[in-house]
Amino acid sequence: MYSDDFIMKQIPCNSCGEDKFQNLFQKKSSKDETFQIVKCKICGLVQVNPQPSIEEVAKYYSDDYFTKRTDRGYDNYYSDKIRSEIERVFRLNLEDLGFFTWEKSLSKPKRTIDIGCAAGYFVNYMKNQGWNSEGVEIAEGPVRFAKEVLQLNITKADFLEWDREIKEKFELITLWASIEHLHKPKETLEKIYSHLKPGGRMILSTCRYGILARITGINWRYMNVPEHLYYYSLDALIRECEKIGFKKISSITYGSGMTAKKDSSWIYRTTKKFMDSFVKWTNQGDMMAIQFEK
Ligand SMILES: [Zn+2]
Repeated sequence: MYSDDFIMKQIPCNSCGEDKFQNLFQKKSSKDETFQIVKCKICGLVQVNPQPSIEEVAKYYSDDYFTKRTDRGYDNYYSDKIRSEIERVFRLNLEDLGFFTWEKSLSKPKRTIDIGCAAGYFVNYMKNQGWNSEGVEIAEGPVRFAKEVLQLNITKADFLEWDREIKEKFELITLWASIEHLHKPKETLEKIYSHLKPGGRMILSTCRYGILARITGINWRYMNVPEHLYYYSLDALIRECEKIGFKKISSITYGSGMTAKKDSSWIYRTTKKFMDSFVKWTNQGDMMAIQFEK
């Protein structure tokens, strides 16, 4: 049951502003609260609605989220092992998106900011690549780690509250697996646009509501409520950004839905390897990364 201060509000669709929804299913969270997942009847965006308030969701991001192994959290996010694995995925995504070719064409100084940067691993990676690199993050634990251990330039803030006098300052703004967590994704994308230099780029990644999500439904590995509030299809996310003014440069999808498990059998690992290659080749992965230009 909900406690008295549990706040949920039916809101218009963040993408199209309409309020006609089709119920998909209800799902229980790790704290045994039930959330309704709906699909907008007008634009098709899948979302948690009624939506829990920012305060309500905040309790799901306690320090445990980053240190304890759960279905949705991490097995010590701060370990060197996880950090190098995350860096490997960044590098792979950037390469597959053709980012490095563009990067070579830039002159210094190059400025970048990562929105929802968690412990700052991408900020750190870009700093090591010679960028003037900073991040914004709302969760306290990872911000402390990023500042104290990695000595990075991180602001603890909600990006929509964060501001700079001078707009159009950044060559690159990134949103790695954060848009699905945001209460106001559209407003965030608009703000990113205003802070990018003309010709600058935005790279974002998120789980992709496609064929694998539709087949697995409520059991889809990314159907984590209430941490994930929005579930975009590849086309819908591209359209959303194009409406704001972004121009799509490249996109990739990856991930077969089979998660990496500790001590898995040889057959599982082989099947996973095959399935991961297969979905990447057929462009049906349940993760996506897209590169846009302003
Ligand atoms: Zn809609």
